[in-house]
Amino acid sequence: MSESAHPRDLLGRPLHDLRISVIDACNFRCPYCMPADVFGSAYRFLPPEELLSFAEIERLARLFVGLGAVKLKLTGGEPLLRPWLPELVRALSAIEGVEEVALITNGSRLGPLARALRASGLDRLTVSLDSLDPETFAALNGRAQRLETVLSGIEEARAAGFEAIKLNMVVMRGVNDRETVDMVRRFRGTGHVVRFIELMDVGNRNGWRLDQVVPSREIRDRIAAEFPLAALPARYPGEVARRYRLVDGSGEVGFISSVSEPFCGSCSRARLSADGKLYTCLFARSGFDLRALLRSGARDEEIESALRRLWSRRADRYSEERFERRQAGEEKVEMYYIGG
Ligand code: SAM
Ligand code: SF4
Ligand code: SF4
Repeated sequence: MSESAHPRDLLGRPLHDLRISVIDACNFRCPYCMPADVFGSAYRFLPPEELLSFAEIERLARLFVGLGAVKLKLTGGEPLLRPWLPELVRALSAIEGVEEVALITNGSRLGPLARALRASGLDRLTVSLDSLDPETFAALNGRAQRLETVLSGIEEARAAGFEAIKLNMVVMRGVNDRETVDMVRRFRGTGHVVRFIELMDVGNRNGWRLDQVVPSREIRDRIAAEFPLAALPARYPGEVARRYRLVDGSGEVGFISSVSEPFCGSCSRARLSADGKLYTCLFARSGFDLRALLRSGARDEEIESALRRLWSRRADRYSEERFERRQAGEEKVEMYYIGG
């Protein structure tokens, strides 16, 4: 398909990444995503018949790839709670035009699944890891899940052949911000890349406050005082993380600064929720129901033209408008539902 067949949105942005949420349920209750007091034991996640089947996901992914997406990232909820996930990875990796299939996980089920995921063709792995202190880690996940399980999952993944695993740390002032330099110290020399994420006001229920956000610049300065850093160029337009190498050659770190340095201008990500809604922004108010279209018997051409139309009309730039939009009190989609 020629490049001109790839749509651009109203701000001239192409489609490059598709984030696919495979399940909304999760075994963690991170306070910034699914606070335990809101998502208690009575909370009902989507029943299996409401989730897109693997065949439906594969079909949609193929159509997105036809419109320019080259990178597919599986997310959730916790994606490794979806049974038979390696089968989906295998099917997605086989789509012509896909350059990379990636997965983001909380790591709690990674150990036993790492080899199967690698064998199925998964290219890249991101593990969320907010603390290296067992007590803080257990408190943060809201389910007393053990840090050791996640650390050994990361080891198993490395043994299975995943190199340069991205380790995502959401930094919260007064909660885990004292650990940022420890995180670098712990993982330098392993080939893994720690990425520091500014706490975002996703959804409507995480009680976000600006004073909990630690700006990336502050973290960068703290790290650089111990491990001098040098900026690295972006690998492709729209890369989310700003990357730095440790000048001593022992590793790389990244910063995702959605609050202090919004990057909407080059945002080329579409998001598919577990029940098949398309969102063109992490902070969108509503999504387009692709599952209804699929299950109505629509032909590929009809779905493709809907996708093309939706992308061509996209004008999202929430992070650049955050403070005005917050004042307006708009509802947003929840993070666990849409995926990160
Ligand atoms: N459950 C998996 C995990 O935690 O890795 C995948 C889904 S989770 C929604 C994806 C990513 O979003 C995680 O790295 C998580 O830390 C991040 N995230 C969730 N809520 C966030 C928030 N309010 N601010 C910043 N990052 C957030
Ligand atoms: Fe935490 Fe990810 Fe679960 Fe959200 S989906 S509660 S970020 S583990
Ligand atoms: Fe993309 Fe929306 Fe995030 Fe801006 S706020 S970078 S448009 S997802």
